[in-house]
Amino acid sequence: MPKQPSPYGFRFDNSYAQLPEDLFTRQNPTPVTAPANVVFNENLAAELELDGAALRNEGLALFSGNEIPAGADPIAQAYAGHQFGHLTMLGDGRAVLLGEQVLANGSRFDVQLKGSGQTVYSRRGDGRAALGPMLREYVVSEAMHALGIPTTRSLAVVTTGEPVFREQALPGAVLTRIAASHIRVGTFVYAHQYGMAYQKPALIKRLADYTIARHYPAANDRENPYLNFLEQVADKQAALVAKWMAVGFIHGVMNTDNMALSGETIDYGPCAFLDEFAADKVFSSIDRQGRYAYQNQPAIAQWNLARLAECLLPLIDRDTPKAAEKAQSLLATFSEKFAAYWLEAMRGKLGLFNAETEDQALVATLLKAMQDRGADFTNTFQDLSGAPAVPADWLAQWKARLTRQPQPANEVERLMRRHNPAVIPRNHRLEEVIRAAGEHGDYSPLRKLNAVLTRPYESPPEFAEYKTGPTPAQRVDATFCGT
Ligand code: AMP
Ligand code: MG
Repeated sequence: MPKQPSPYGFRFDNSYAQLPEDLFTRQNPTPVTAPANVVFNENLAAELELDGAALRNEGLALFSGNEIPAGADPIAQAYAGHQFGHLTMLGDGRAVLLGEQVLANGSRFDVQLKGSGQTVYSRRGDGRAALGPMLREYVVSEAMHALGIPTTRSLAVVTTGEPVFREQALPGAVLTRIAASHIRVGTFVYAHQYGMAYQKPALIKRLADYTIARHYPAANDRENPYLNFLEQVADKQAALVAKWMAVGFIHGVMNTDNMALSGETIDYGPCAFLDEFAADKVFSSIDRQGRYAYQNQPAIAQWNLARLAECLLPLIDRDTPKAAEKAQSLLATFSEKFAAYWLEAMRGKLGLFNAETEDQALVATLLKAMQDRGADFTNTFQDLSGAPAVPADWLAQWKARLTRQPQPANEVERLMRRHNPAVIPRNHRLEEVIRAAGEHGDYSPLRKLNAVLTRPYESPPEFAEYKTGPTPAQRVDATFCGT
C-alpha cells in the first residue's frame, strides 16, 4: 500500500512494530509544557529527505513529543543488558521509537525521541533527560560522523520547559536520535532471557531474521546464515573499535545494551576523548574497576559478542556442542581481526601505504613514548611532520621507514591528514558548551564547537583554540552517565 508522504517529508514505516509484541510496548511520548528549540541539524534533515526549512520553523512540537508525526507508530523497545557484566532487564525507559524513515533508495532510519517520558521500562526513572547530556550526545555523535566513524546521529535537541531532578534541578531536554536501527546485543539477550508469550526459540529466530534482513541480507545466501550474521556483526565491531581507538575515543559504558548490531556507535553517556595518551585511561565516574578503559575496549567488544553468540546457538546448529564450537572458533579470531583493523588505521596515521612486519613495533614504541611523556594523543600525530614531541631515535626510525615505500612526501602528508584529526570534541570544550547552555541558556559555544567539528580534518587558523589540550584549570577527568 503506497503511503502518502506527510508534511515535513516523513515517510514512516513501522516494521519493528510488526514483530512479536514481546519485543516492545506501544507508547506515545509524554507532552511537555513549554518546549523551546536548542539545536537543529539541517544537513541531517536533508540526508533523511526531510523538509529542513519547515522543520526548523515548525518542528518544535514534533521534537518535543507534543505532536506525533503522521505515519508514526510510537513504541518503547524492550532489551536487556549486562551492565558492568551483570545481567539486567532494561528497555527504553526514557525513549520512544517514532518509526523508520524510509528514503527513496529504500534505506531506513529509526527516528527516536530520547527523554520523552516514562514507559513500562522506566523502573524508578522519571523518563526524562537533562539538557547537558543530550547536548553531549548531539555534539559527540555528530563529531564522530564527521570523523568518518559509524554512529547514531542527532537531528535536534529541544528543552522541555520542565526541570529534571538529579543531584540538583536541571533543564529537561529531548534529543531526536537517528540510527540505522536500535537493535542491540541486549535486544537478543532480552529475547533469549525474558521472551515469554512467544516461544523463545521462535522469538530469537524472528529477531535474527529481521536483523539479517535489515542489516546483513547477504547472510541469507550463506550455508549457515546465523553463523555468518555473527561473523559480520563481529567484523563490524572490530572495525568500529579500531576506529574509536585511532582517534583516542573511550566509549565508557560498553554494556551489551549499548552495542548496536548495525555497527554504529550508540549511547554517548560518559564517553570522552583522550587528551594525553594513557592506555589504561578511564573517564567514567562509575567505572571504578576500569572495565571500559581505553585499551580494554576490544576485549569487551569480544565479551559482548560472546553474549550475542549464546543467544544464537540454537540457530547456528541444533546440536548444542557443535553450535558452541562453531561460535567459539569464530569469536576466537576477533583479536586478530581487531589487530588488523587497528594496524591499518595506525599505518594511515603514520603515513604508511605498504606493510612491514616491524610496523606493529613502530606503533607500540611511539605509544609507549607518548604515555611516558604524557603527550597529547591528537596533537602528537598532528605534529609528526613538523616538530613532534617524540624521541629522536623513534623519529629517525619512522623517517627511514617512510623511505621504504614509493610514495612521495606530499602523498604521505595527504594520507596522514586524512587519518589524523586536527580537532576532536575535547572534554573541557564539551563542559564549556554544557555549562553555558545549562546555566545561562547561552548556545553560542555550542554552535561554534559544532561548526568546528564538522570539519575535523581541516585546520584553518580560526580552529587554533580548539586544538589545544586543557589548561590545569580546565581539565575534566571524570564524566558522568547521562541519566
Ligand atoms: P543508559 O545509561 O542511557 O544506557 O540507560 C540504561 C537504562 O536505564 C536504559 O534502560 C534506560 O532507558 C534507563 N534509563 C536511563 N535514564 C532513565 C530515566 N531518567 N528514566 C527512566 N529510565 C532511564
Ligand atoms: Mg543505553
